Amino acid sequence: MSNKPVVVVGAGAAGIMAAWRAATLGAPVILLEKTNRLGTKILISGGGKCNITHDGPLEDVLRAFRPNEARFIRPACYRFPNHVIVDMLTSRGLEVYTRPDGRIFPTHGTAKDVVAILRSYLREAGVDIRLECPVTGFERAGTEISQVLTEQGPVEAGAVVLCTGGSSYPNSGTTGDGWPWARSLGHRIVTTMAALAPIHLREMREDWAGIALRDCVLRGRQSKAFTQWRGDLLFTHRGISGPCCLGISREVSEHISQAPVALEVDVVPDLSFEELTERFLAYAKENPRRQVATWLEPFGPERFLEGMLKELEIPANTPMAQTPTKVRNRLLNGLKGFPLGAVREVILPKGEVVAGGVSLDEVNPQTMQSQFVSNLFLCGEILDIAGPVGGYNLQAAFATGFVAGESAFELVRS
Ligand SMILES: Cc1cc2nc3c(=O)[nH]c(=O)nc-3n(C[C@H](O)[C@H](O)[C@H](O)COP(=O)(O)OP(=O)(O)OC[C@H]3O[C@@H](n4cnc5c(N)ncnc54)[C@H](O)[C@@H]3O)c2cc1C
Repeated sequence: MSNKPVVVVGAGAAGIMAAWRAATLGAPVILLEKTNRLGTKILISGGGKCNITHDGPLEDVLRAFRPNEARFIRPACYRFPNHVIVDMLTSRGLEVYTRPDGRIFPTHGTAKDVVAILRSYLREAGVDIRLECPVTGFERAGTEISQVLTEQGPVEAGAVVLCTGGSSYPNSGTTGDGWPWARSLGHRIVTTMAALAPIHLREMREDWAGIALRDCVLRGRQSKAFTQWRGDLLFTHRGISGPCCLGISREVSEHISQAPVALEVDVVPDLSFEELTERFLAYAKENPRRQVATWLEPFGPERFLEGMLKELEIPANTPMAQTPTKVRNRLLNGLKGFPLGAVREVILPKGEVVAGGVSLDEVNPQTMQSQFVSNLFLCGEILDIAGPVGGYNLQAAFATGFVAGESAFELVRS
């Protein structure tokens, strides 16, 4: 074995796993991290609770990703399936539970406990962890990287695992540093854009801030609807957030570069327009003097419904029996697709992940090895991978990190 170390750049989920795997196999490993903490993004994941991974058969987990991404991470996920990270954590005392939707969280603990356990693995494996050690670039010798340059001086490297993550939540240390380096080493960087992110709307309805719509369908439209997501939706001071919004944000980011995108929300996804009409007419027959606002009550929070009626120009006190067909249709169409207006921006820095990154075509999915630099391995969010909310992104980072660490070990061993 060469005595040159595996140098891992970035101590996020991917970097921690890569460093641990290479070190347990016997390689000397140096883990370089810009911030003063390990797993800065794990610490803020799942609102501080950490949605560790997603439960269920691997093929179901893979289906949550876009087909090209699923194809790429499939070998890594079979080498490091979702139950392995759970086993690693639970064998050291963390209790976990699985939500009905398959998301796995610590039961009592938090993301801090997850990171503490991962730290214990690294220490035991003898990884040389260097915090507050920002990497600034690489020194090349032929087709290899010979040194990793840091603010604390150069570090000689037998193999390099590059896993500096994306560029959202820049305060957590992820400022997209790895992409220009990967580009200068020959890699194509697929345009990066926001995913799993809040959306700002052109028309701000500040009085709706804090309103949550439960189990609605949010749609993004240009000439026709191109994306939709069912779940909860939260109104913010400048637009929207919550699961529905995060769910469509990547598609909206992609479409908005071509033409304006409008959003609409269906607050009664289980009822068709015809069923709503029947319900309206039946209620009007039995309660002719009741107000339209009263009939609407079960369909959402009062503040939202009040605002909706106002925007649809329907007086809240219109008696049910005196609602003209045209007005009734306007109201029911509003329930089935209330226009929220045009998207101003999808907020990349507030996204849980960034879509785009190092092109998957130029990285070997079996090893995570770069096609251009023989001792470079790439893993985690630096790659062009962005799964949905649900523990998928940490799973992808852990699995690709595990494989990168193993491959880096194989290289320095030979
Ligand atoms: C608010 C939020 C909540 C999330 N919740 C979840 C969740 O519950 N479940 C889930 O699956 N996913 C979640 N994600 C996504 C998930 O955290 C990421 O996809 C995952 O952490 C990516 O892992 P990574 O190792 O590739 O990158 P990161 O975890 O981002 O790690 C990259 C590391 O590289 C370091 N670094 C960057 N530049 C340099 C440099 N120049 N020198 C040295 N070090 C450097 C960074 O400081 C960072 O520590 C969430 C993300 C956010 C922002």
